[in-house]
Amino acid sequence: MIGLEQYKEKRSFEKTPEPEGKIINDKRNRFVVQRHQARQLHYDFRLEMEGALKSWAVPKGVPLEPGIKRLAVHVEDHPVEYIDFSGEIPDGQYGAGNVKIWDSGRYEIDNEEPGYLGITLYGEKLCGGYALIHTNKKNWLMIKRKPVKDMNTKEE
Ligand code: MN
Repeated sequence: MIGLEQYKEKRSFEKTPEPEGKIINDKRNRFVVQRHQARQLHYDFRLEMEGALKSWAVPKGVPLEPGIKRLAVHVEDHPVEYIDFSGEIPDGQYGAGNVKIWDSGRYEIDNEEPGYLGITLYGEKLCGGYALIHTNKKNWLMIKRKPVKDMNTKEE
């Protein structure tokens, strides 16, 4: 279920520059990766979906090579406006620290099943097939899929 209640409960919008936001369902299928230097450095991976941003915190960063698995912790949905957010979250506020946009672009869903999401990313740094696989509670694994060989291409 998409919802921003948890997002709003955690923040004081008179103290943080983050957007308060609302559900905006214009289906633009964007993604963003934000480098978040909070108490612990992590990368927030967000997919525009059903009017909000489905979000995962990836402590070691999104994998750039096939075969590398990275823990991705599912976190609360964020408002669509958050996709452009960069800046300083003040001390004492939730997620205090610096947020920078690390990559952004569009995505397509290739395959969606309970506990599995296969997507293709069209970003500047991240391009190609990825999968998010639910493992336990809030924990997912993010992997870069191996490129599928074009069946029509003859071996040289
Ligand atoms: Mn974060």
